[in-house]
Amino acid sequence: MSIFKAVDFDGHEELHFFNDQESGLKAIIAFHRRLPAAPSGGGIRMWPYPSEEAAVADALRLSRAMTYKLAVSGIRIGSAKSVIIGDPRKDKTEALLRAFGRVVESFGGRYFCAEDIGIVAEDLTFIAQETTHVVGLPGQDPSPGTALGILVCLRAAVTHRLGRDSLEGTSVAVQGLGDVGYNLCRLLRDAGAHLVVSDIVGERVVRAVTELGATAVDPEALLFQDVDVLAPCALGEVVNDLTIDKIRAKVICGGANNLLAEPRHGERLAERSILFVPDYLSNSGGVITVAAIRAGQASFDAERKIDALHSLCLNFFAEAERAGISANAGIARFTDRLILDIYGNRSTA
Ligand code: NAD
Repeated sequence: MSIFKAVDFDGHEELHFFNDQESGLKAIIAFHRRLPAAPSGGGIRMWPYPSEEAAVADALRLSRAMTYKLAVSGIRIGSAKSVIIGDPRKDKTEALLRAFGRVVESFGGRYFCAEDIGIVAEDLTFIAQETTHVVGLPGQDPSPGTALGILVCLRAAVTHRLGRDSLEGTSVAVQGLGDVGYNLCRLLRDAGAHLVVSDIVGERVVRAVTELGATAVDPEALLFQDVDVLAPCALGEVVNDLTIDKIRAKVICGGANNLLAEPRHGERLAERSILFVPDYLSNSGGVITVAAIRAGQASFDAERKIDALHSLCLNFFAEAERAGISANAGIARFTDRLILDIYGNRSTA
């Protein structure tokens, strides 16, 4: 397997592999950009990757997305991400989580972790038995902050693209009803939106239908619903060659990382007049919340910063329109400049 020439390698500074025979832990931690005198942070994803190559690619892509998220949120720390190879429903044991905690501890504070897909707050309590470098223990869940950020960006996108100041009557298709997706659905329901939902776990769908009055559709059909907004909150790369021309929403704004399979898909969405809010911006409420928890700030401090994403988005959309480029390209250009200022030029591109 080539690493330094891999498509997803972008001058990453460190890539670590861990194997714990006893617990079955197989983990990878990627550091994309570090800062002297600051730790690097990023969530832990546990997923049954089809191959080790797929796990490495995800660690590289997710840590790079962290760099973008941190830069656009004004949080000056290094970017990293962990992936654990395994099925969280079958392979996640206390022994495995504690072994991962010892891995985190071995960095001596250079890396701190939080939750991502396949890891919930309760799992972090096992990790925390081995290390203090954990954020998001029960009672500190960043997902409500992530969902709030998506809502705020989504509202700005609906105003810009559809000329509506309220979400009342706006139809939103939400893919994935986990920590982020379900919290988002609640906020959308409170704002008067019509919900169309899917999840591969049946009971999560039933809950959304009974508690929130959502309409359920098959997971395969969710992306192609005739709705105003598509909010993917499950896995990334859902906008790809196979899906892109069948998407009918006018706005895409979701929680999942790396929604575009390739950057060129952002331009194709723009050609189709679909306003795409880059995921590193729309889901940045999560890192903003984690940073506030680490700094010991009150939750309203994070909420105030998350609310500010509304005017940031509106400014980005207007500036991109003036420059005659897509919002996605405009926001990426702006964030690339920030990244250069913060971390310097270490790209291999
Ligand atoms: P989660 O594991 O709690 O929820 C994901 C949900 O998606 C699950 O209910 C799962 O069954 C469902 N799902 C998986 N594949 C699906 C499919 N094909 N169709 C429909 N549903 C499917 O994860 P989460 O914490 O809610 O995170 C969701 C996404 O948001 C992830 O991509 C994550 O990286 C990203 N994210 C999360 C946070 C956070 O604060 N938790 C912050 C930033 C980004």
